[in-house]
Amino acid sequence: MKMLPQVRIILLAVLMSSLCFTACVKNPVTGKRQFVMLTEGQEIAMGAESHPEVLAQFGVVEDAALQEYFAGVGRELGRVSHRPNLDWHFTIVDSPVVNAFAVPGGYIYLTRGILEHMNNEAEMASVLGHEIGHITARHSVTQLSQGQLMNIGLGLGSIFSPHFQQLSGLAQMGLEVLMLKYSRDHEREADQLGLEYMAKAGYDPEQMSRFFQVFTDMSEEEPGAIPNWLSTHPSPPDRLRDTQLEGARLKRSAPGRTFKVGADAFVPRLAKLVYGDNPREGFEENGRFVHPDLRFQFDLPPGWKVENTRRAVFISEPKGGAVVQLSMVPPRAGRSPVEIGRMMGSQQGHQLVSGREERINGKAAFSGIYRVQSDGGILGVTAAFISHGGNIYQIAGLAPESVFSRYRRQMDSSLRSFRELTDSRLLSVQPDRMKPVRARRGDTLRRLAGSSAQGRIKIEDLARLNRLNPDQALEANSWVKLVEPGRR
Ligand SMILES: [Zn+2]
Repeated sequence: MKMLPQVRIILLAVLMSSLCFTACVKNPVTGKRQFVMLTEGQEIAMGAESHPEVLAQFGVVEDAALQEYFAGVGRELGRVSHRPNLDWHFTIVDSPVVNAFAVPGGYIYLTRGILEHMNNEAEMASVLGHEIGHITARHSVTQLSQGQLMNIGLGLGSIFSPHFQQLSGLAQMGLEVLMLKYSRDHEREADQLGLEYMAKAGYDPEQMSRFFQVFTDMSEEEPGAIPNWLSTHPSPPDRLRDTQLEGARLKRSAPGRTFKVGADAFVPRLAKLVYGDNPREGFEENGRFVHPDLRFQFDLPPGWKVENTRRAVFISEPKGGAVVQLSMVPPRAGRSPVEIGRMMGSQQGHQLVSGREERINGKAAFSGIYRVQSDGGILGVTAAFISHGGNIYQIAGLAPESVFSRYRRQMDSSLRSFRELTDSRLLSVQPDRMKPVRARRGDTLRRLAGSSAQGRIKIEDLARLNRLNPDQALEANSWVKLVEPGRR
């Protein structure tokens, strides 16, 4: 969970009303007229409006020089694309998951996780080119179905989520729509366009298929706040081979031309980038959840499973019978725990059964029992609203009313354990960070990694990050990405 208060991803009234104005427009890539739901103006408005929501939801990597470099390469590719006049935006978002995505209107996002797997500027250009291809060919615009649009409008309206059954889905609901799942044909077309754009901009088009090898040995990532590349970008069967052949063909068709690869321009810029999960944003330890940045902790019901997203922390009973969710209440919702707790009872479909103002571990709080009407029937909810560090936190335990009493005691003791985090060891944890180094002749990855590749950071992870065999002899002066262990 992040410092940011809960953000509702409601994708635009603009979008909803646009349903009434479906239109035929000329596709910038094919030149054919095509049925899309949005005009270009609406498409751009949609991107502009969802951009701040995306930033709030994922967070931005705070490295201005890296962001500017990244956007510079992106703009260069945008200029040689089929939509050179679009106002392109490129952002590296703060997630360890390996993914890249595009929002209509020219907004492109790569995660730090995918960037860390790249070895040079041309590989970065290949993923940027691919995402630009989705936008120039207007894939996402044509793919938004009415059903998806309806989903955006629902769901996150209530602070107690009524979509109890799809809890893990709930955490992602907004993104699911933003991060569209493309068809295989769209993937193939985006690959083609990406290759074309990167070659036009002077990048070695053979680097695309090299980078795609990352995905061939990458099995499903652990579930995170963002689905991974493979789930949002289905892989056409011969994708690797096709991009290999086309990359080679593009090079042959421009004899005498030199193409950039750009390892020196790229790898050193990854220095200090957070690698993997950032423990400052919360983690599980010895049966409790601790959040160093927000300085709180609480006990977990034994055996329950934690999912920490930027908007909320979800703790699920192993069989999915109940869930505890913790989130920060948006400041606009109310000023005191009592006010918010009572207001929650007056929302449509919510009923405050009993509640009282109290102190929980020394903090001003309101605790209450609610009945909430949801799609799947009545939910029993035990909730506490607790003032901490200038914010108000909501911890709610939810279960279908028929089994609520079975879980209530466990959920209550979890939410009543919310307290200040004072352990200085936990307050001072630091994430692992990227550390690019240059190899000398005869070095191997294993030798360079030395004792840093022990424990949390495995030599296999470094091998995958660099696409190197740990014991192969490295070329003198080549870049190697190591990881500097943080403090845990
Ligand atoms: Zn794609």
